[in-house]
Amino acid sequence: MIGCACPVCRSLDHRDQRLRVSVHLEVEGRSLVVDTGPDFRQQMLRAHIGQLDGILFTHEHKDHTAGLDDVRAFNFRQQQEMPIFAEPRVLEQLKREFAYVFAEHKYPGVPQVSLHPIADDQLPFEVLGLRVQPLRALHYKLPVLGFRIGDMAYLTDANQLPDSTMDQLRGADTIVLNALRHEPHISHFSLSEAVAILEDLKPRRAYLTHISHQLGRHREVEAQLPPWVRLAYDGLQVEG
Ligand SMILES: [Zn+2]
Ligand SMILES: [Zn+2]
Repeated sequence: MIGCACPVCRSLDHRDQRLRVSVHLEVEGRSLVVDTGPDFRQQMLRAHIGQLDGILFTHEHKDHTAGLDDVRAFNFRQQQEMPIFAEPRVLEQLKREFAYVFAEHKYPGVPQVSLHPIADDQLPFEVLGLRVQPLRALHYKLPVLGFRIGDMAYLTDANQLPDSTMDQLRGADTIVLNALRHEPHISHFSLSEAVAILEDLKPRRAYLTHISHQLGRHREVEAQLPPWVRLAYDGLQVEG
């Protein structure tokens, strides 16, 4: 929040200073990101991501898509289109919001992408040779997707998980799940709701993401959580 003077936004702990939610995955030599929010460029530069092989989108909200234009740098360096994986509805929205990317006669230097629809929310699909299980979730009334690759699962902007998704999450070693704040919210899990789901699933470790400044200071909130549930923070790196 611009100009916010709350204790979290004024905290000197770097873990209280957050850009928009995203995750970079390195799996079997592939480099992927989930979502390209408005901070995508800054995040790629900060993490020194020199190569990006594909992008998965959870849903079409701008805090998850607004940075897509900056795939141009990867197009230029890699001399190829960027594969994008999303539900058909999300791809259609990207076409509307980035119309110049999909124009028949393109301006030189605009992003180059190839679109790969995720047609079935229950069946695994392939991303550059990797098997990815989509995870259906509801974000108030909007269907969104999380993703499970191997024994790691990532889900954000959810406030409801169907039984089928709970089943697909079982056995995961590492789960990333969204937790916005303490108070209930219409379209995001609260902290207690997220922890209750994780207690049910019992992964070896879990990380909470899409955190609002309303949750409180990282150090104080994390101290109240079970040791295997941690708050994610910008720059956190986790080995599989
Ligand atoms: Zn959203
Ligand atoms: Zn969001």
